[in-house]
Amino acid sequence: MPNYESVRNYTEKVLSLISQDEIDSDAAKWVTKETLDGFREYVNPGFLEYRKSVTLGTLDAAVEWADSGPNGFRDVNGKEYIDCLGGFGIYNVGHRHPKVVKAVVDQLNRQALHSQDLLDPLRAMLAKILADITPGDLKYSFFTNSGTESVEAALKLARAYNPSKPTILAATKAFHGKSYGSLAGTAKGVFRRPFMPMMPGFRHIAFNDIDMLHKTMHACKMVGEDVGAVLLEPIQGEGGVNIPEDDYLPTVRELCNQYGALLILDEVQTGMGRTGKMFCSEHYDVAPDILCLAKSFGGGVMPAGATVATEEVFSRLFDNPFLHTTTFGGNPLACAAAIANIHVLIEENLPARADELGRYMLDGLREAVKGHEDKVLDVRGKGLLMALEFVDDAIGFEVAKHMFENGVLVAGTLVNAKVIRVEPPLTILHEQADRVFEVLADALENTRVTV
Ligand SMILES: *Cc1c(COP(=O)(O)O)cnc(C)c1O
Repeated sequence: MPNYESVRNYTEKVLSLISQDEIDSDAAKWVTKETLDGFREYVNPGFLEYRKSVTLGTLDAAVEWADSGPNGFRDVNGKEYIDCLGGFGIYNVGHRHPKVVKAVVDQLNRQALHSQDLLDPLRAMLAKILADITPGDLKYSFFTNSGTESVEAALKLARAYNPSKPTILAATKAFHGKSYGSLAGTAKGVFRRPFMPMMPGFRHIAFNDIDMLHKTMHACKMVGEDVGAVLLEPIQGEGGVNIPEDDYLPTVRELCNQYGALLILDEVQTGMGRTGKMFCSEHYDVAPDILCLAKSFGGGVMPAGATVATEEVFSRLFDNPFLHTTTFGGNPLACAAAIANIHVLIEENLPARADELGRYMLDGLREAVKGHEDKVLDVRGKGLLMALEFVDDAIGFEVAKHMFENGVLVAGTLVNAKVIRVEPPLTILHEQADRVFEVLADALENTRVTV
């Protein structure tokens, strides 16, 4: 028999903490201890090892507690950080944008979740908005709770549309999520190997290699395993911010047309203004048959995603809309957040801001790494999706760690720090960007090359 009395006391204590804006140092100590113990005993001790390596062995600084304005957050001890990781691209409109928060709270005060049977209005309105802003003939939307679900829906739509063309092509270094269908498209061996066999039908081609794509499509056709869909990120995020040649995506589009394959663009990370346009595919004037969205789609407040397809493709679900469903996808809170998110992106002209600030930051980062060519191989990016490529993991890791100690969070881990992503909110201020350059230069100054 569980000790419900003690669980009730514990939950009461936690609820009381959540309700406070500020916590005192005793409470901070308790939160830190409970968090570390909880991760060690009940979440996954592996995270402690991973995080410890970025926090100088003292994990006190590794527990987060609150946002500190649109572009940063505070740890449990009150130390502030500029967020240059942006939750891997979930904070495009910043942390807790007031209009997104208001929309969610307004909706919450009226109705939290939907009946699941009647027609929910915000779903219809959000779908219409997406048809208006997405490229080409994209028209119908299926709503999800995450990126991997958006990709799953796209894969099922593609299979339903092209039942006699079983092959799906994805690119090396791709990241599409970790549920089984998406994982088959994801390229990283360490994430796939323990879970074999993968969903059948996938083949990987080198990213940005038209010749290989063409030859593979041809070979697949020759052997009767035609390519039904090509799944790509327009710019690879997780794979290291890999930007293709300007003519790559347009040529992929042509080849897809020629072979009767659908083009699925995964803009889970590049969408919603991140690269300087509302959708990254607009840079290349390419419209996919299916578009996958998530991450910042919910305005950094709600988990939300969407799979948007042309009428021709989506119509496979018209006869039976229950062929693919999800209980929570497109719930009223998520739709309210997504609608407010799009409103803010347009009203504050954030895609253009990402373009301008992206140029500013790329210049500043390049300036900051000058004289450190023995450590930094490349600084690249489009809009505010940027990356620093180091000579090796160890140097990238040291730099990320030093930056964290000095109040700038970037995405560099012990496992993968050769390329560090820099993805601040699109609302980052010039003076915050300047501070990032300063901290980076200082980090490089203090990092030794060990051979
Ligand atoms: C993060 C990401 C995903 C997976 O999203 P989840 O919400 O973590 O499932 C899929 N595709 C791309 C391009 C991503 O960056």
